[in-house]
Amino acid sequence: MSKPYKYIFFDLDHTLWDFDSNSSEVLRELYFTYDLGKYGIESADLFLERFVQTNNALWAKYNVGEIDKFYLRNQRFRLVFEDAGAIMTLVEEMFLKEFNKQFLHHSPRKSKLMDGAIEVLEALHGHYKMFIITNGFEEVQSIKMAHSKIDHYFDRIITSEKAGFKKPFAGIFNYAMKWTGANPEESIMIGDNLEADIKGARDYGMDQIYYNPAGIAHNESVTHEIKNLTEILAIMDHLAAVKNG
Ligand SMILES: [Mg+2]
Repeated sequence: MSKPYKYIFFDLDHTLWDFDSNSSEVLRELYFTYDLGKYGIESADLFLERFVQTNNALWAKYNVGEIDKFYLRNQRFRLVFEDAGAIMTLVEEMFLKEFNKQFLHHSPRKSKLMDGAIEVLEALHGHYKMFIITNGFEEVQSIKMAHSKIDHYFDRIITSEKAGFKKPFAGIFNYAMKWTGANPEESIMIGDNLEADIKGARDYGMDQIYYNPAGIAHNESVTHEIKNLTEILAIMDHLAAVKNG
């Protein structure tokens, strides 16, 4: 049975804000600015590829509390440089710190969104109360939203840092309900992370839309699954029709 929703909770990174394209753009620029070839990293493409692998692995650990923000931020580029074949004796600690600082400054100021994001937000805006719920770091998430010009669509940004709990844990959803006035029965969660966004919301009693553009196979039961963000409109439209009919 379908049910009408009043509240939509969106994840930000990889769901609306195109983390991969934006971070790749910055890393490519930094590769040439700092001439990483001279440390033995053969190409910008190799560097980007190793960043994606390492960063995703670190974020998976961060999401379940195996590592903290400090570790993630401080060790990230050391691991990426190592994996990309850098001669580590040439890579000084201060340089890695500076590199990380540059990445953190420039990356959230990139503005590329996932395909269909604006179209969907524009269509839903005004019909639902919309919120961001993110495990991303407090100080960068609002910069990303401002630079990609999507901040005005949302009533609130819920961050795990403010909540004191990360998705998939109930604590962040409790916090979100409290600060938005929403309830799980009339809410739907849209996100790209099966564990954090989708299972998190499901276990909390919220319906979910799993945004799975790569079509990754899984065995979880989810309310809806989509490959393109624009499919959200059909789902919400259908529900409006059910509600009115
Ligand atoms: Mg995400």
